[in-house]
Amino acid sequence: MTNVVQNATKNQVQNPDQILEKNLHERFSFYGKNAKEWTRKCALLLPEINRLRIWEKKGFKSIYEYARILAGMSTNAVNAALWVGRKVEDKPELKKVIEEKGIGAIRPIANLATPETDKFWAEKAREMSKHTLEAYAKEFKKSCPGAKNYYQNQILFSDLNIQVKPKTAEKLQKLKGQGSWDDLMEKFINLYEQKLEENKPIPQENAKRYVPAKIKNYVLVKTNNTCAFPGCTKEYKYLHHTWRFALTKTHDPDSLIPLCKAHERLAHAGLIENENQSPESWKIKLEANKTTEKWQKVDKWVAEYRKPSS
Ligand SMILES: [Zn+2]
Repeated sequence: MTNVVQNATKNQVQNPDQILEKNLHERFSFYGKNAKEWTRKCALLLPEINRLRIWEKKGFKSIYEYARILAGMSTNAVNAALWVGRKVEDKPELKKVIEEKGIGAIRPIANLATPETDKFWAEKAREMSKHTLEAYAKEFKKSCPGAKNYYQNQILFSDLNIQVKPKTAEKLQKLKGQGSWDDLMEKFINLYEQKLEENKPIPQENAKRYVPAKIKNYVLVKTNNTCAFPGCTKEYKYLHHTWRFALTKTHDPDSLIPLCKAHERLAHAGLIENENQSPESWKIKLEANKTTEKWQKVDKWVAEYRKPSS
């Protein structure tokens, strides 16, 4: 077969316009990719150039002018490069990540990383999207020794920022009576959960990917469409199977958990402790569990499958 025929079978028939468009797009993407790579290299050199005041010796008014004229870098880009540069001075692994993925990729953890955790964070920054890394860093800070323990402290009712109509307030006041707000709220929660439990749909086995409306509704009412990760108030984006669907082919209302994008990614990265228990006992893991190999495989498929879209 000649090349022409091969291409024709592969791409079906393309008219000249389509070929031109494809060619323009491919060239633009290729040049863009290279431009990004070169900009990343420039950004990495800036801190040292600034330290030695090379811009001055070459007749520029400032590091900003130097970077703008020579590399088309904006003021913000220069500031980011200098800031991150200071942070990674003593972290060779993170420097490598900057070269591969740019400054943005390590920004969420620039303040967290130490020379001892350089390798750990470099690995995370390589694997995770910026969003996922942000969420991970946030949880990491919370679980660090000495950090304020969000879950053990009491939270003031007023901190929940609850506003109610006077009529509702009056009723609540009466229901509370001589007891405490904590007891009353617990009573409400228990009643509500019992009510939900009564209407819980049965798990669907040998199922297709699509979650039946009945199960979906049940799951979403529990958090009123919000991510179930402790402390998260984002709207849910995925119904996450804590027992991976690819392995069980089951939609079980007890193990389907609504999660925002970042927390769903963390789950698939194997970084949630107690994932098979209810989300209240979830914690962020500091290392992915290497023993749940089967799951990791599934999670890898999921990651592969998503790559083109994200
Ligand atoms: Zn979340």
